[in-house]
Amino acid sequence: MVKVDILLVGQGLAGSVLAYQLMQAGCQIRIINQTKAETSSRAAAGLYNPITGRKMVKTWQADAIFPMIELFYRQLEGITYTKFLHPLPIYRPFVSNAERTEWSTQAAQPAYQHYIAEVYQQSQYGEFIHDSLGGIMLQQSGYLDLPIFLDSMQQYFRAQRVYQEDIFDVTQVRPKKTGVQYGDIRAQRLIFCDGADGYRNSFFHWLPDRPVKGEMLMIDTGKKSNIVFNRGVFIMPFGDKYKVGATYDHQDLSFSPTTKGRTTLEEKLERLINMPYQVVDHWAGVRPATSDRRPFIGLHPYHQTIGIFNGLGTKGVSLTPYFANQFVEFLLEQKPLDEEVNIQRFERYYHAVS
Ligand SMILES: Cc1cc2nc3c(=O)[nH]c(=O)nc-3n(C[C@H](O)[C@H](O)[C@H](O)COP(=O)(O)OP(=O)(O)OC[C@H]3O[C@@H](n4cnc5c(N)ncnc54)[C@H](O)[C@@H]3O)c2cc1C
Repeated sequence: MVKVDILLVGQGLAGSVLAYQLMQAGCQIRIINQTKAETSSRAAAGLYNPITGRKMVKTWQADAIFPMIELFYRQLEGITYTKFLHPLPIYRPFVSNAERTEWSTQAAQPAYQHYIAEVYQQSQYGEFIHDSLGGIMLQQSGYLDLPIFLDSMQQYFRAQRVYQEDIFDVTQVRPKKTGVQYGDIRAQRLIFCDGADGYRNSFFHWLPDRPVKGEMLMIDTGKKSNIVFNRGVFIMPFGDKYKVGATYDHQDLSFSPTTKGRTTLEEKLERLINMPYQVVDHWAGVRPATSDRRPFIGLHPYHQTIGIFNGLGTKGVSLTPYFANQFVEFLLEQKPLDEEVNIQRFERYYHAVS
């Protein structure tokens, strides 16, 4: 019999970060994970960006979340002796004079000034993109190279002897009053960090998920830059190439790249960039998103020894360190969870189906 404090299912971005933070807090853990190419974390670009969307608004909870991002991932680089964090500015060209005027004023406001490095009135990157009206340069941004992050965290967990490569069979879970039994593992708590696959999980199938497929391209332009360009699509330097993304599709939830996805990306790309390119790769993934665009975190309404850390949607890289920390404090110190992420907000759905 193996006894642990917490058994985690899944070692994507969510499971990796939560597992590490639980270990830091002194918990004995075990991770059961199936390594596969078709996961959201492995498909993702890994960008973190404080000001997002068509209307360019500060991302939800940015002031709480962003101070922690680079510090946290740097710490993980330290324990794994691997580089996967790449801070990079994000440049967004203006499309109208009105937009330029609006941002020239907005940039100086206390709410935005930490995130804006510069507002340019004239073209800066004409050899790469169309930016005749100038643009806005964001800071506290960049990307996490997720495949490298996941592989090196897995090596770390294996070295700590807390990792088990296996498919977790949810039908074999035996909830007990003071814990959970799974095969020869006895855990005080079981936490599912199983991403979009988890929406079929029999303990949490009642949560209102809204998975969304995304497609990405890798392109070669022959030109190097150290800035992410973003308008309609993002074009992110990756080695001597660029990653371009991403699409949003709620209907087709397969991991197969499509002609429609590629055409959508290429049309947007051609509106943004000013240089010839060649597509060298094309792939897809499914984001574990939710109906209200907030994560699913907390304990099962009936089985209080079983929990979930999921629903990180389109912004896993920025949300995960902060909310994993909040979940650890909730589990170990009974501190409250943010009501917007606590799955208690959907308890009525559980009672409706049970
Ligand atoms: C195309 C695309 C682009 C994206 N771009 C960005 C971006 O730029 N920035 C950003 O922050 N986010 C981005 N995302 C979203 C990001 O990928 C997610 O928010 C995050 O990676 C989700 O991580 P996760 O650990 O919850 O899920 P996953 O990555 O799906 O990990 C779940 C893990 O659990 C394992 N698992 C599941 N069930 C079982 C089982 N029964 N037994 C054993 N193991 C199991 C899986 O194999 C996997 O290893 C993007 C996603 C896509 C698809």
